[in-house]
Parts: sequence; C-alpha cells; structure tokens
Amino acid sequence: MKPTVSLTFDDGLACQLDAVKELNLRNLKATFFLATGCPEYPWDLKTWQEVSKNGHEIGSHSVSHEKAASMRDPGFETLHSKRTLELHFDRSVKSYCYAYTDAPSFLQEAARKAGYSQARGGRVARPDKYYVRGDRPNLMNVTCFHVGPETVKDSGVWAKETVRRNAWLTLMFHGTGDPQAWDNISLDQFKKLLDDFQGAGVDIKTFADGADVYRRG
Ligand SMILES: [Zn+2]
Repeated sequence: MKPTVSLTFDDGLACQLDAVKELNLRNLKATFFLATGCPEYPWDLKTWQEVSKNGHEIGSHSVSHEKAASMRDPGFETLHSKRTLELHFDRSVKSYCYAYTDAPSFLQEAARKAGYSQARGGRVARPDKYYVRGDRPNLMNVTCFHVGPETVKDSGVWAKETVRRNAWLTLMFHGTGDPQAWDNISLDQFKKLLDDFQGAGVDIKTFADGADVYRRG
C-alpha cells in the first residue's frame, strides 16, 4: 500500500469549482458528494457533469440532507440518490456520505443494502483517522479530518503522518475560496495543502480509489 489521501467535498458548493480547476491543473482527482433533492444545496447538472467527465468521482450525499434522526426513509435516501446520480452521470455511484457525518447503524445498513462500497462518516467515527495495513475498520463509516480555517494549518502534519504510517487518510472539505461558505478555506490554503501532500509523496485519489488501495492492502 502506498500512502494515500482521499479528498472529499460536500454539498456541491459552487466555490468548489475553483478547487476543481486547481486539481485539474495538477491532474489530480477528488470526490464530490451531492444531495439529489435538497433545495438548500442546489447544484447545476451540466457543470457537475463536466466535473465528472474530468475524472472526478461523484458520490451521494443522500436525497434530502436530513439528519438521521428525522429521516423518514433511509432506504429511499440511500438508493434513490444513487439511482438519480447514476442516471445523471452515466456511471456507477459507489460512495456515500452521511449528512452531518451522522452514521447510526440503521443508516449504515441502508447504505450497504443500496450497494455502496464505502461511506464517509465524520470526525468521531473512529478516533484514529489513519487506516493502516492490517486494520479491519468499518468501511461503511470511514472517518476523516474536517478541513476548515482552524484545522487546515495542520495539513503538513497530516501529510507526514500519512507517510510515516503508510496510511490511507480521508479529508472533508466544504467551502474553498468563498468566505460566505461553511468552514471555508482560501484557495491559497487549498493549494498549500496539495503542496504538502504532494511534497511528502502521498498519492492523492478519489474516495473510491483510496478505499480500493486500502482494500487491496
Ligand atoms: Zn452536507
């Protein structure tokens, strides 16, 4: 296994398209999680189809972006969003992302039944965020570092630790370059984060490809 980081972006925010540009310049691929029926997080189909054509992964972020506790139909949230995205993007959707990083076991089960191969949870899914060879973690609740203005300064440390432990690490992004967006980091901070990981010799991959590297050991 090579040290690998998966970059994951939530909610289909328009500002993330600037991050896409930077990734494309560097020929790097990332994962973007879209909710298929949430008015609070609209996204433009044509734009994101282009992102998908660039080789980035599109994953499901549920239909409604409801909290797990108030979700009426977990099967619908996981399966309908998957089918909708597969129709829109004409490729299979293998990665799920729990809204609010909230992944109770009934929702993990729904995601598994819907046919996802891996799902991203949150900060508390697992205390150790580095997945190393020989671990047997639950890939239906993969933990991650939450990238934001407070934490992005640690990217150099995360990169070095990924190499030291020969690990797979997942990062969660929201705003990139829009001060109004949730947990925004600037584009310069994003570029520095990429520099840190690339400089340390970490492979940068989509969530699905990172999980595959990890599964193969
Ligand atoms: Zn979200």
